[in-house]
Amino acid sequence: MATIFSRIVKGEIPSYKIAEDDRFYAFMDINPLAKGHTLVIPKAETDYIFDIPDNDLGDMMVFAGKIAKAIRKTIPCQRIGVTVIGLEVPHAHIHLIPINSIYDMDFSKPKLKLSPEEFEEIRTAIVAALD
Ligand code: 5GP
Repeated sequence: MATIFSRIVKGEIPSYKIAEDDRFYAFMDINPLAKGHTLVIPKAETDYIFDIPDNDLGDMMVFAGKIAKAIRKTIPCQRIGVTVIGLEVPHAHIHLIPINSIYDMDFSKPKLKLSPEEFEEIRTAIVAALD
């Protein structure tokens, strides 16, 4: 069965898309730790990130870097934290999270509740900041 993220890539489930190319897709996390929290995934379904073929894994990080730079231009923060957890959705994904302290990467914290308008406003600003 297709993962929820594959269904997002296919457009069967809506997402706040930041960017895509032929192999990767970036979209806003629906339960963000911070405004701008974004997920980067490979379009090809792979559960565990280190099972992604080496070339794709490297290119995924380069793709994520472009997104991270745009998030950093948009959301005031010290830097973009990068993490991979993958305990909830069995489709490899990189979390990109605007942070000012190590505690901003604490996934046990309550998540933000953003309105559709807030998601869309942040999404549009990040997209506009992409090189
Ligand atoms: P993890 O697998 O890294 O532990 O967590 C999965 C992440 O995906 C969580 O941060 C969760 O909020 C996010 N997520 C789960 N389902 C959806 C969804 O349907 N849409 C979006 N945009 N994010 C999701």
